[in-house]
Amino acid sequence: MDVSRVIIHSDMNAFYASVEQAERPELRGRPVIVGGDEQSRHGIVLTASYEAKRRGVKTAMVLWEARRACPEAVVVPPHYGLYQRYSRLARKIYYDYTDLVEPFGPDEAWLDVTHSVGLAGGDPVLVAQEISERVRTELGLSVSVGLSWNKVFAKFGSDHDKPDGFMRITPGNAARLVWPRPVDELLYVGPATARKLRRLGIRTVGELACADPELVHQRLGRMGDVVQAFAQGRDTSPVRPLDASALDVRREVKSVGNGVTCPFDVDDATCARQVVWLMGESVAQRLRALGLRARCVSVTGRDFETLACRSRQRQLARPSDLTGEICSAACELLLGDWDFRHEKLRGIGVRASQLVPAELPVQLDLEGVEAARLGRARLDATVDDLRSRFGNHAVRRLSELGDPRLAALDPERDHNVHPVSYFA
Ligand SMILES: [Mg+2]
Repeated sequence: MDVSRVIIHSDMNAFYASVEQAERPELRGRPVIVGGDEQSRHGIVLTASYEAKRRGVKTAMVLWEARRACPEAVVVPPHYGLYQRYSRLARKIYYDYTDLVEPFGPDEAWLDVTHSVGLAGGDPVLVAQEISERVRTELGLSVSVGLSWNKVFAKFGSDHDKPDGFMRITPGNAARLVWPRPVDELLYVGPATARKLRRLGIRTVGELACADPELVHQRLGRMGDVVQAFAQGRDTSPVRPLDASALDVRREVKSVGNGVTCPFDVDDATCARQVVWLMGESVAQRLRALGLRARCVSVTGRDFETLACRSRQRQLARPSDLTGEICSAACELLLGDWDFRHEKLRGIGVRASQLVPAELPVQLDLEGVEAARLGRARLDATVDDLRSRFGNHAVRRLSELGDPRLAALDPERDHNVHPVSYFA
């Protein structure tokens, strides 16, 4: 067993809620719940701050239940773009210590610092403490850190001392710290595996580590071999890095979307088209900033009365980040499926998905289609440049100016960028 590796698992505590508190000082020290979509009645607690957890609020609780447990809680909607940014900033700190950083969701990451502990005087504990201290002071977020010679025990360590904790698991103390714990506290031992193990009389990590391998294999197959090796500390899986460049952030982005709940009813096609353009344009702008193109565009309308949502999507002929193409596709979808003689909308959202890197080569064609697209791309780039220098309202569409209601909508504010791991 190779015990010479130094692996850190870093877990930002109550991540979404902590980011909200870091961004809004008035929320600090108060019970904060980040919750999805209360109006739909399916709203659940995505994250609760420790103040709210202490009062009995739990992740995935429905919001009305959470409010009953903690009436003084402040409920805020999720701002995924913001969490994404903090996630990136945390990774930037990690990259100061190693290029071997493997994100595990937006708030967790493994770091292989084996070859950088020398810089910290050879003490891995100092490295771990410095990292958590930097996240605290530079981002205003608390982290729990686990330190071990393998990923599974490092993760166990960060899970077991929260918030703000630190646990080091060594070959010398693993039997004392890890083995007495229930077996399902081990990474990858889910409820089904735990149930099978219980049938073999295995309840703790230690019992799994010491069980007859034949028996475990017989009942659980290959999965049994794997989790037993984990229990024994024989997890040899490497920390799989993403690129340190902006690429890794892009690779995580699965879709880019933007939507508004309008302060007015969208009750005719003209108004609907304007709102779609407003949303779609900011989505396209965001795609360009990320260096991505979408193969698929979808639009969601929320009914004015029932608040029910309906979505339609379509494939684009070519991957696109062009404002015109994204917005036209979204408009056609919306106007093709909603009949404003009978329906009114309260909210409209536009989303671009199936993303590919923008720098994939483009095949020019004899009809001049791609050449025309290049021209439109230059126009979009010029508008982006003006807006980045003089603010988002520096360049506006005439249609927006015609309708004072639209001026109140700020497409930048509610931007959602969804990485793979977000569960909402
Ligand atoms: Mg966390």
